[in-house]
This record gives sequence, structure tokens and C-alpha cells, in this order.
Amino acid sequence: MEENRTTEDRKNQGQGDQGGQDSGYEEICFVCRRPESQAGKMFRLPNKISICEDCMQRLMDQAAQFDYNGLLNNPDLLKELNKHGMPNIGFVNMGDIAGGIPNSQRIKKRKEKKEEEKPVFDIKKLPAPHKIKAQLDEYVIGQEHAKKVISVAVYNHYKRIAMDQKDEIEIDKSNILLIGPTGSGKTYLVKTLAKLLDVPLAIADATSMTEAGYIGDDIESCVSKLLSASDNDIDRTEQGIIFIDEIDKLARKRDEHHHSVGNEAVQQGLLKILEGSEVEVPVGANSKNMMVPMARVNTKNILFICGGAFPDLDEVIKNRLKKQTSIGFAADLKDKFDKDKNLQKQVTTEDLKKYGMIPEFLGRLPVICPLECLTKEMLVEILKEPRNAILKQYQKLLLLDEVDLQFDDGALEAIAEKAIEKETGARALRAIIEEFMLDIMYEIPKDDNIGRVTITRDYIEGRGAPVIEVRSGGVPQIETAETPLQ
Ligand code: ADP
Repeated sequence: MEENRTTEDRKNQGQGDQGGQDSGYEEICFVCRRPESQAGKMFRLPNKISICEDCMQRLMDQAAQFDYNGLLNNPDLLKELNKHGMPNIGFVNMGDIAGGIPNSQRIKKRKEKKEEEKPVFDIKKLPAPHKIKAQLDEYVIGQEHAKKVISVAVYNHYKRIAMDQKDEIEIDKSNILLIGPTGSGKTYLVKTLAKLLDVPLAIADATSMTEAGYIGDDIESCVSKLLSASDNDIDRTEQGIIFIDEIDKLARKRDEHHHSVGNEAVQQGLLKILEGSEVEVPVGANSKNMMVPMARVNTKNILFICGGAFPDLDEVIKNRLKKQTSIGFAADLKDKFDKDKNLQKQVTTEDLKKYGMIPEFLGRLPVICPLECLTKEMLVEILKEPRNAILKQYQKLLLLDEVDLQFDDGALEAIAEKAIEKETGARALRAIIEEFMLDIMYEIPKDDNIGRVTITRDYIEGRGAPVIEVRSGGVPQIETAETPLQ
């Protein structure tokens, strides 16, 4: 107790390796688990334990109470205690807790707001929508409309934060709903975006979300994930992106046999955080419990992007369109809808309501953005064009063995065709390539004379071997993995 100096004192003396000023993490009260920003000044005890003023006061009161009961005033008892020395009373085993609370459960200190300090997002440095899109183009193939919509929405979102709502005209939040089949690049688009903007990203799954009190993740767990993605820095968390995947699974089921009250309740529960509210989330853990410190995060400036495949949405849209056309010349148009693979482009909020999303929920996702179904040509492009294209990755690997790996056009098309059959979009590509590259990666390093391997359609379809060319003296001329294929 001789070390009960306040954090102020300690700062002055430059001490404190866990938590405190030096590490940039807030101290946490050992008793009530509140961080310094909520609980105020801390008393520091040995073994890196801090206790807030409130709890310290409570402990003192209890000690006083103990005395008041007369136990320590009892001269006989005191004599007895002195005879044996003070008994070794301890309610906590100090050895177990040496080192205090780990940093993974601490919150980063909020930066003190100084006048000249730059905001995280400088409006002048925020890239304009066309620049955001140009950067996305380097990674994401196709999806032109989606990239455009997202670039504008994100630009507006961060502009809104930069304005800090001092104006009377409040700009509404532009949360986004991405609709597109699996493997069309929804998650990839959001991941790329977060990387380009250098903001933290949390990816949550709507199917694992349940109402508070049920088995599964709380709705707020996505905010908790974002907090850990931003290294427990609340300022960064409050400007991050949360992607909630499989949002279509929260739809109210349209047939009565399914019990779907829970789904609707999760949609209801999400309303508040989508719009912006203060939530208490556990730091460094998934669940709330006595031992986990809590942090307050305001979700007002967090950009929420929801994504889902909405499998039967086509039917809903088709029915609406059919109704509209049945007044006039119907039959041939109906046929056209049946064949249209990108019917989802015509989605409206009404369709989504019919699908089972509640109106309030849709109201908080004002930007609706359908993605295209990937075509064979797009899949071929995905194989070879993006910055970190799968082919470039394999070429780089073989380059280390000084072997030039090439795919002819027929091979690329064959891979794309196989992927289309699997109906999991671009996700299937890697699995297919990995399957037949295994033999190549195994056999090639055996023979030092091999200079070039060309993969052909026949090899992909199991009708032949790849074309192997032997090195003709010296190291072969190899294209670097960075240069796009012809
Ligand atoms: P989903 O739409 O189901 O979220 P993902 O974004 O997870 O699909 O896509 C799976 C993988 O497929 C990504 O990791 C990415 O490598 C690739 N991919 C999908 N769409 C594209 C695209 N349009 N451009 C480039 N790569 C893509």
C-alpha cells in the first residue's frame, strides 16, 4: 500500500511497463474492470495491479467496518495475534496474477485532442471516388457498377465524418447492402477497400448472431471484433468498417413451417448499431463476463456493409416484373426474365421486404448494390489479371526454381468452365488449380533441365501432359510474375 501513488505521479516518474502512459494502453481497475477513461484515477499496487478510487474507497470502508465490529479492538484477540505473528491471510494469490492484465484485454488510450492534431481522415487526403475505384480495379475484376457505387458511398461516408456534423444539415449514414451470388467478390471487395483506405475491418457472420442471452455470438460481438482488429484503439474502431456476411439468412421465412422469430429479432437488434449508438463491448474476448474489461464504442461513424446471396430473390423480382408486364404483351417477356442471370440488378427495396427483410432494417441500408454473376471471360481475367492473381502466384513460386510457367488460352478457359460447373463463383478457381498444380509442383523440381512448362486444355481435362521444354543452355528468359500474361 506504500505505492498507492496515482497514475499522475507515475507518469511523472516515467514508470509503468504494462498499461499506463508508456505502453499507450489504459489501466484497468483490478476489482471492477473498468478502464481508466471511465473509472478515473487509479491507485497502483505491487504486481502491476491498479485499483480505481471507487473500489479503493469501498475496500477502505469494508476495512473500517471490520474494525468497527470490534474484532481488532479486542485486546485478547490482538494479544493472540501478536503471539503467533499476523496470520497469512490473502484473498488473491499474487503469484497467479503477477504481470497484471495482459495488453490484449486492455484498451488503447484515447489520444488527447489537441487543437493542431490531425484527424484520422484528412478530407483533403481522402481519395476522390474515381481514384478509389481505379485502385479497386487493380484487384477486383468486373463488378463495375458495384465498384462505382461503393467508391461514392465510402467517399461520402468519410466526408461526413470529416465534417464532424457541425453543420445543421446532417448527412445520413450510407451503410451498404451488397447482393450477389457466392464467390462473386463481395467479401473480397470490402477487404480490398479496407486495405486501400487503411481502416480496420471486422467480418462477422449473421448466421452466428443471436439475441442477447441465447447461445451464439451477441449482436455486438461484431463491434468487439472491430476493436481487436484496430488493436484496441477506440478512435480507429469508431471509424472502421464492419462487414456482416450472409445477411439474407436473417430474412423472415416465407413458409410457415419454419420458425424464424429469432431471425427477425436479430434484424431488430442490429437496427441500433447500424444507425449509431453507444455499445459496451468486452475487450480482448468474445463474451462478457466478470473478468473481462469493457469498453464503450460509438457506432455512429462505423460503416456497415452487409452482404448476402439472397438465393430466391430472383423469383420475387420475376414475379413483380411479370405482374407489370402481364397487362400488355406478356408471354415472350416472361421468357426473357427466366433466362436473365442478372435479374438481381433490378432489385428494389420492395422486393427485399417481400423476401423477408424488415423495413426498418432496409431503411438503415440506403445503398443497395447488386453484383454480377461472374462469366467465363471474367473468371479467366480473375485468373490472370489482378495484382495478386492466382497464376501470378504460381508463376512466382516456380520462378524460384527458374522455371517459366505458362498457361495457354485453352487451359484458362477449361479452368473457368470447371469453376462455373461448381457454382461457387471465383472461389472454385483456386481449388481447381491447386488440384492439378500439385503434380507439377512435385515433379518439376526433380529435373534441373526443365526450363518451361505450358499447361494446356488437354492437361486440365485429363487427356494429356503439360508441354515441357528443356533449357537450351544458360538460364531461360523468364517473365517476372508482375508482368501480366499475354
Ligand atoms: P463472396 O461474394 O461469397 O463474399 P468472396 O469475396 O469471398 O465471395 O470471393 C472468393 C474469392 O474469389 C476471393 O477471395 C477472390 O480471390 C476471388 N474473387 C471473387 N470475385 C472476384 C472478382 N470480381 N475479382 C477478383 N477476384 C475475385
